[in-house]
Amino acid sequence: MRTAIYPGSFDPLTNGHLDVVQRAAKLFDRVVVAVAKNEDKHPLFTLDERLALVKQEVRHLSGVEADTFDGLLIEYVVDRKAQAIVRGLRAVSDFEFEFQLALMNRKLNENIETIFMMPKDTYTFLSSRIVKEIARLGGDVEAFVPPHVRSALAKKFSGAKTI
Ligand code: ADP
Repeated sequence: MRTAIYPGSFDPLTNGHLDVVQRAAKLFDRVVVAVAKNEDKHPLFTLDERLALVKQEVRHLSGVEADTFDGLLIEYVVDRKAQAIVRGLRAVSDFEFEFQLALMNRKLNENIETIFMMPKDTYTFLSSRIVKEIARLGGDVEAFVPPHVRSALAKKFSGAKTI
């Protein structure tokens, strides 16, 4: 059983994330989309909200599940009996940070490999941060996020309960 962990803040999940999940699902028997608590990043959505949005979007994908984690990623990877970490690479700007993170994780556990996946070219400009900014300013994010995320963003910025 080959398992990969795809960790991130997913604040919120975008079509770019989903593209990476689908590519990873072709390579592994099981892909766990692991939503990081990341309180210090002051996420717009709570951990439960982020998890619920990911769950909703991956439930039709076979071999893909959603979970949350807090603390050291490499420990979570070992706990879940996974062999690899999946990360997305959009542009050269992602490279330096991702490279550092991958090498640090290898220092912590050299049995775990990090795999980088490039999204479809139309998603290379997409980030949760930009999507939140557009939604906050009243722009339409339909092309960038799944429908449930779009309505969760609309509710969040209208002050209503999200999910
Ligand atoms: P983090 O806070 O860990 O960066 P994100 O949710 O922003 O969490 O991203 C999780 C992973 O998904 C990272 O590897 C990031 O580079 C990747 N990613 C984010 N957006 C995209 C996208 N549009 N296409 C491909 N990969 C992406």
